[in-house]
Amino acid sequence: MQLLDGKKLAQEIKQEITAEVLRLQQDGLRLPKLALILVGDRPDSLSYVNSKEKNCLALGMLCEKHLLPQETTQESLLQLIHHLNEDSATDGILVQLPLPEHLDTDCILEAVDYRKDADGLHHVNLGMMLTGNPYILPCTPNGILHLLKRYQIPMDGRQAVVVGRSMLVGAPTAILLQQHHATVTQCHSHTRNLSEICQKADIVVTAAGVPQLLRPEDLKEGAVLVDVAMNHDEHGLCGDVYSQTTAPILEQRLAAATPVPGGVGPMTIAMLMYNVLELYRHHQ
Ligand code: NAP
Repeated sequence: MQLLDGKKLAQEIKQEITAEVLRLQQDGLRLPKLALILVGDRPDSLSYVNSKEKNCLALGMLCEKHLLPQETTQESLLQLIHHLNEDSATDGILVQLPLPEHLDTDCILEAVDYRKDADGLHHVNLGMMLTGNPYILPCTPNGILHLLKRYQIPMDGRQAVVVGRSMLVGAPTAILLQQHHATVTQCHSHTRNLSEICQKADIVVTAAGVPQLLRPEDLKEGAVLVDVAMNHDEHGLCGDVYSQTTAPILEQRLAAATPVPGGVGPMTIAMLMYNVLELYRHHQ
């Protein structure tokens, strides 16, 4: 089985970004800049924001962190977003989720100018992706696509199953696979006979967040597994299918798979960095 090594590919992508940012610097040009907004003091959210800042700076890009108190009002948050929308030195804006309950998440996310939408999840960007003419792509689905392409996994004419239909992962991934000419079946919590459906697929993408959602024998021999989920079991991080326990069986059965950890996870952050540079290019 071929390991779809997201950690390695993410590193390569980051090196390419670093080289491009260095060229901009040497040419005396403005550098790409990401604005991160965190409301409240959730430790997990703070560590995600810090990790994004660290990545941005490590690649030579600029990062501006806005850490706002839990009681921040909708109005003052919108004011900050409008200011960043207008700021010509800011290329990407990312509002860390979840927001405190008193804030209207949809309204806040939609207030970000779609041309500065670092996550690629703004309705306008999802709509443009649907038309096949994207401005910017959502990070995790684009990371999956990069992995499949880099490892030359054929999509054209293949049967693909995507388990999960969230706007963050499942729905955009299914669209991208279809645009690469796979025949896509999208499954969710109401799907009957999940195992039967997956057994027929050449490519299975799982993004449900349910450990042991499928057993290795629910996948066709020679299939490709992209396990997006980040669950925990007694050994630590695991996917919906991939775990320390199932890895040796998958190794014998599949043509290729993303490990968990080290598969899709590192690609998501690399794609965020890629998006900041991409927004900068559009902006220039
Ligand atoms: P989500 O919003 O909770 O969506 C989960 C999806 O899975 C829903 O569409 C749900 O169906 C479906 N589902 C749940 N249980 C199912 C079952 N038993 N059978 C079939 N489908 C089922 O989660 P998400 O944000 O998309 O994230 C999914 C997973 O990916 C999580 O583990 C998350 O941590 C992980 N993730 C990883 C990365 C990464 O970089 N690796 C990035 C984002 C997310 P319904 O629509 O019917 O409810």
